[in-house]
Amino acid sequence: MTANNPPTLHRRSIQDLPDELISQIAAGEVVERPASVVRELIDNALDAGAKQITVRLLAGGVRLISVEDDGHGIPAEELPMALRRHATSKIRDLYELERVNTMGFRGEALAAVASVSEVCIVSRTAQQDTAWLLDARSGEVRPAARNPGTTLEVKELFFSTPARRKFLKTDATELAHCIEAVRRPALAHPDVGFAIWHDGKLIEHWRAAPTDMVRADALACRLGDVLGTDFIAHSLPVLRQLPGMRVYGRAGLPDAARSRADQQYGYVNHRFVRDKVLTHAAKSAYEDVLHGHKQPVYALYLEVDPARIDVNVHPTKIEVRFRDSRDVHQIVRHAVEDALAAPRAGAEVDIKPTPPEANQPAASSHHTGKQAAPQFSSDTKARATYTQLPLPQSTGHRVNDLQALWTPSHDRDDHSQPAVAAKSTVTGAVTQLPIPTPTDAEDGCAQPTTTWPLGRAVAQLHGVYILAENTHGMVIVDMHAAHERIIYERLKAQWDCLDNDHAGHDAQVIASQPLLIPATFAATPQEVATAEAHLETLHMLGLEVVPFSPQTLAVRAVPAALAQSDAVELARGVLDELQQHETSGIIQRARNEILATMACHGAVRANRRLTLQEMDALLRQMETTERSDQCNHGRPTWRQLNMKELDALFLRGR
Ligand code: ADP
Ligand code: MG
Repeated sequence: MTANNPPTLHRRSIQDLPDELISQIAAGEVVERPASVVRELIDNALDAGAKQITVRLLAGGVRLISVEDDGHGIPAEELPMALRRHATSKIRDLYELERVNTMGFRGEALAAVASVSEVCIVSRTAQQDTAWLLDARSGEVRPAARNPGTTLEVKELFFSTPARRKFLKTDATELAHCIEAVRRPALAHPDVGFAIWHDGKLIEHWRAAPTDMVRADALACRLGDVLGTDFIAHSLPVLRQLPGMRVYGRAGLPDAARSRADQQYGYVNHRFVRDKVLTHAAKSAYEDVLHGHKQPVYALYLEVDPARIDVNVHPTKIEVRFRDSRDVHQIVRHAVEDALAAPRAGAEVDIKPTPPEANQPAASSHHTGKQAAPQFSSDTKARATYTQLPLPQSTGHRVNDLQALWTPSHDRDDHSQPAVAAKSTVTGAVTQLPIPTPTDAEDGCAQPTTTWPLGRAVAQLHGVYILAENTHGMVIVDMHAAHERIIYERLKAQWDCLDNDHAGHDAQVIASQPLLIPATFAATPQEVATAEAHLETLHMLGLEVVPFSPQTLAVRAVPAALAQSDAVELARGVLDELQQHETSGIIQRARNEILATMACHGAVRANRRLTLQEMDALLRQMETTERSDQCNHGRPTWRQLNMKELDALFLRGR
C-alpha cells in the first residue's frame, strides 16, 4: 500500500532563513492587524516615559499609523538598531528578564512591523538640538525638525504580503480595534494624555491627570472619560491588599452587566492582559449576584512583585503566568466579592457630605470622576474607604448631603401628607413576617425625616412594593425580592458557621422547627425516591420529609427561618432541586441553588398585606444584609427616587 505515503519530494539542503523572512514570520505572531501595531507603538512610547501620546490613523490604520510621543527619544546613532530583530534597550540579562517592568523587552516589535510595512522613525533626545529621521526602506538617516520625543510612522500595512492584507476587515472595523488598542493602555495610565485622530479628525481625547493627583483619583477620572460616567455611577470601588500583592479598581454593579464581555478590563502591573485566573476570579465573585449569562463590567488592576509573574509566555504579552495563581485568584475574588456584598443601603456605609451638585444625575455632571477622591490605605487587607466616590445614581445612598435640599416635612406639607394618609390606608390581614422587628422601628412616625438609609415604610402598593420615605425622597422596594435575599443570606450564614463546626455527616446545619401537624402531600414516585435517598441532606437543610405511604410524603419539620412558608411547596422545591443534583456530595456545590430555592419559598409572597412594622422590619434587615441590593436572580431590590427627581417629574421649582 503506497497510497498513504507522502509524495516524495526531492530533498533540499538545510539553510538559514533570510533575516527579512524571519521577521515576517515573527510578524505573523505580533502583527495581526493595525490595532496590533498601535498597541506595540504605544507600549514603546510608554516605556520611553511619554506624557502625551498622539495616534493618527488613515483608513482604519491600514494606510497610515503614526504614533507621536514626548518621551526620551532615540539617539541618532541607535536609530538603525531600533529596527533590528532582538535589539532592545530594556533588558540586558536573565536577571532583568525575570523582573521586567517595561511593556516591551523582546526587541522584535519594530523589526516585525518594518518587515510588513513602510516604517519611518523621527526621534530627538533632550540632549540633541535636532531630530533625526530614519527611513527603514533605504536605511538612510537625515536631520529633521521635531521637539524631543519620537514619531513612528507605519504606512501601507501588509503591502508586501497581499495574502495577509486580505484578512483585514473594513476600515470602520479596523478603526474600532485601533481605538480599543488605545483605550486599554489609557485605562492604566491616567497620568498620560492620549489623542486619536482618524482621517484628519480628532475622535478621542483623554487629558492627563494633574501630576499631584493620587492614582486612585486619576484612575476614576480616566475610567469616567474613557468608559463614560455611567460606568462610574454603576460601579463600586475595589481594594484589597496582601503582602506583595494588591488589587484595586472598580467593579460594575450587577445591574450594569452586559450581554457581551466587552467591558472587562484586567491589568497586571499596568499591562492589559487576558488572564484566565483573573477573569475566572472576577466571574466567580459575581456568581451570587448575577445569574444567567450576563457579563459583569469591571476594571481591575493587580499589582504584584514582577519576580512573581512571568510575562514572557506570549509574543504579544497578553497573557501572563503567576507563580502563585491561587493567591491571585483569592485576592481578586475576595476584593470584588467584598465590594459587591456591602449592603449599600446599610447604615455602616460611611458617607460624608458631598456638595449638592454631586446629586446631579451622573450623565449630566460633566466630570463625575473628578469628585472621586479615594486614597489607598496602606494597611494590609484593608477595605477601601472611598467615602467621596460618586455613588450609583439608581440607589440612594447619600444620607446627609440631601439635608440641604430636603427640609423637614413641616416646611413642605405637600410632601408630608402621604406619610400620614398612607398609614391609615394600610389595613388588611396581619401575617407576622418571620423577621424581628427592631424596637425603634415602631415609633417611626415621631421623626419627620428618618435617618435610616431605606427610610420609614409608609405604604404597600398592590401587595408587591413597599413605599418608604427617607431623607432623599422616596424608596420603592420589591418586597419579595428583598425578603428572598435576606433569607438566602441568613441560610447561607447558618450553613457556613455550622458547617465548619460539624464536619460529621448528619449534623443539622440549618435550625429546624417541627410542624404541629405534619403536612402531607401526594408525591410522585420520583419525589418519594428522592426524599428517601436524601434523608441526610434534607436533615442538614432543616427539613424533615418522610414517606407516609408509597404515594404520600409528609413534611414534619421545616427550617425555623422559613416557618411561615408553605411547607409542601418548600419540600417540593427542594426535592426538585435535589433530583437535579442527584449524586451525593453534590450538595456542597449545589448549596447555593438549594438555599436559593428555599429562600424563594420562604419569602413573602405577592399580595400579602404587611403592617407598617413588618415593612419597617424588612427595610432594617435589608440595611444590614449583604448583597441585599440584588435579589437572588441579580435584579435590583430597591430604587431611590430623590426629591429632585420627584420635583422634576412635577416641574416644580422651574
Ligand atoms: P522592545 O520594546 O521590546 O524593546 P521594540 O522593537 O518595540 O522592542 O523597540 C526596539 C527599541 O527601540 C526599544 O528597546 C527602544 O529602545 C527603542 N524605541 C522604540 N520606540 C521608541 C520610542 N517611542 N521612544 C524611545 N525609544 C523607542
Ligand atoms: Mg516594544
